[in-house]
Parts: sequence; structure tokens; C-alpha cells
Amino acid sequence: MLIFSPTTIRSVNPQPLPYLSFSHSISLPLPLTSLPTPSKSPHFPSFHINCIDAAQPFDYESHLKNRYIQSTSLKIAIIGFGNFGQFLSKTFLRHHTLLAHSRTNYADLANHLGVSFYADPHDLFEQHPDVVLLSTSILSTETLLQKLPFQRLRRNTLFVDVLSVKEFPRNLFLKYLPPDFDILCTHPMFGPESGKTSWAGLPFVYDKVRIGDEESRIKRCDKFLDIFEKEGCRMVEMSCMEHDKYAAGSQFVTHTMGRVLEKFGLESSPINTKGYETLLNLVENTKGDSFDLYYGLFMYNQNALEQLERLDMAFESIKKDLFGRLHQVYRKQLFGDNNGEEEEFGSAVAWQWKFNRISIG
Ligand code: NAP
Repeated sequence: MLIFSPTTIRSVNPQPLPYLSFSHSISLPLPLTSLPTPSKSPHFPSFHINCIDAAQPFDYESHLKNRYIQSTSLKIAIIGFGNFGQFLSKTFLRHHTLLAHSRTNYADLANHLGVSFYADPHDLFEQHPDVVLLSTSILSTETLLQKLPFQRLRRNTLFVDVLSVKEFPRNLFLKYLPPDFDILCTHPMFGPESGKTSWAGLPFVYDKVRIGDEESRIKRCDKFLDIFEKEGCRMVEMSCMEHDKYAAGSQFVTHTMGRVLEKFGLESSPINTKGYETLLNLVENTKGDSFDLYYGLFMYNQNALEQLERLDMAFESIKKDLFGRLHQVYRKQLFGDNNGEEEEFGSAVAWQWKFNRISIG
């Protein structure tokens, strides 16, 4: 902004051309020919030109703005831009710069969202992201890690995963990542269906497996965690091992029941109870997830098999309770109170007949 103000003459030296002094560092000699020479008219008020913040909106202020954005935002590269990767990116984009790479070419979709898509991981890593976030299927993680060109990244890049099992990626990261990289293992315990409208109150589990001591590295990790904290997630710090123990008993069982009920073929009716609505919601929540994801929960959580067997046993036990009581009722109806051997045999035949009818029906 230029301000022209009349001032009295301080020096009456006609020789040097008047200078425009900029408040920064530049002084330009300008041939202001239209202005009267001070020596010729000593009482004529001259113009002292004050330049305030000249060119600053494009320089200083934008520089400050950039520095502020840099200090609060991260450059995040998502690997695996499928269902969950896309879901996360929509929230990340509000405050961070996003890049992505995937086996499938999602360039158009990414472009539409405002994410820079790189079909080649070499090109992606040459952008030197602060954070590389792995959102690939559990099953493909190891093969993928073996192929990634880590040498193109900055030496202390932060690697994060969002896999639904935790000990498995933790061990792979420690095995394949260069020792200078930071490692944060996380599990946002919600998905595109359960976190559709808000993440508030939803659990986010994390384990700072390896974060360097330098302040910048600690801040970078905190900045990443802040994304979830600011969305209102319930932040739970726990070891990967603990996570897997709890998750097998809750998440794997939830997915299994959802899949069983989906196969069973639940249908909405005009007289749905609250409980039945809960079951319909469960099917809705789990049916969007790929079988790869479910199989990964089973295959790469060592506690899952035990939980599946417990479920099986619980189901059998309930069937036994039901049929056991039915057995007694039939016995009474058919044979009264007699407990002779012949009756025992007869009752067993009747029970078997009834059981077969129930099983077939
Ligand atoms: P997913 O079926 O577990 O994974 C799909 C992703 O894996 C896609 O990006 C896909 O790439 C990639 N992928 C699959 N096979 C691949 C291979 N052989 N090589 C390279 N990439 C491969 O489904 P998701 O729901 O998107 O889950 C992604 C990750 O997030 C999983 O680890 C999951 O456990 C975790 N997670 C999911 C949820 C959820 O609610 N969905 C919640 C929390 C955590 P392309 O699309 O390019 O083929």
C-alpha cells in the first residue's frame, strides 16, 4: 500500500534522484520528472512517499500462512486406496495434503476427492511424504512391503498402519522397515458404515511401537493422532498384543455373527422388535466388509480360532439345553412315569424322530 503525504523539505540537494524507500530492503531510484525540483521551489510541499507493506500480501503474509499450514498439516501418503483408504481420506483432507497409491488405478476417483494419485510407488515416495499409511488388505501386507521402494523416502519417515489385526503388521514393520523409520500401529475401530456420520466416541487404538526421541518426530506422531482426537474418537493406547486379545473376543465374534446372520437371511418385517433391529444393523455393518478382511481377522489373529471354537461350543450347548428339555416332555407324554428299559428304548426312538423333524424343518 502506498501513502503519499506532504512534508516539508529536509534537504535541498537537487542532485540525486528521489528515492522510493520500501519498508523491506529495496530502494529504487525513480525519475519523477513531473515533480518540481525542491531547489527550484523551496516552499513547495514535496511528497514523502511511505511504502507500507509493499508486496507483502504476496510475500510475507503468504509466507506466514504457508509456515502455519506446514506446522499444522501433514503430507500423508495412503497405500491401499480401497474401501477404507477412501473413507479415511475424506476426513484427512480437511487439514492435510493427501497422496495415494493402490494396485487398482483410482486416478479419476482420487482426483475428484482432491487426492494426488500415483500409479507407481516410486513416484509417490519421491514426493517425500511425512507419513506413509498402509490401508491394504491384511493378506497382501507382507508381499506389498517387500516391494516398496523405501530408499526413495526421507530417512525418518513415519509409517502407520490401520490393519484390523495388530501384532502381525507390527512384526512385519519391524522386520522390513529401515531402522530409521518411525512406527505407529493403529486400529480405528469403525468403518464406512459405523463412522458414516461422525467419529465422535468411536474407539481408536494405537501403539507407538518406535518413535524417535527428536522433538520433530514426536510432534509428527502427535499431529497424526490429533486427526482422530479432534474428530472426537475415544483414544486408547495399548500394546498390539493386548489389542489382538480383546479384538478376537469382540470384533471377530461380531463379524462372525454378522456373517452367520447374513447367510441365515434375516429380513425386515412390519413387527421388528428393538432386538431384531439390532441384528439387522449388525448384518448391515458387516456385509460391506470384504471376505479378505474377515479372513485376515481369522488367519492373522492367533486368538481367533479359539473364539470360533468357543462360539461353536456355545451354540451346541444351547441346542442341547433346548432338546434336552424337549426330550423330557416327550418322555412324559409317551410313557408316563415308567422308567423301565423298554420305555427308555422307546423314548430314545421318539426323541430321534422328533430331532430329525426339527433338523430337517
Ligand atoms: P480389504 O479388503 O481388507 O483391503 C482392500 C485394500 O487392499 C484395497 O486398497 C486393495 O487395493 C488392497 N489389496 C488387496 N489385495 C492386494 C494385493 N494383492 N496387492 C496390493 N493391494 C491389495 O478392505 P478395506 O475395508 O479397504 O480395508 C483396508 C484395511 O483397513 C484392512 O487392513 C482392514 O483390516 C483395515 N480396516 C478396515 C476397516 C473397515 O471397516 N473396512 C476398519 C478398520 C480397519 P485395490 O483396491 O487397489 O485393489
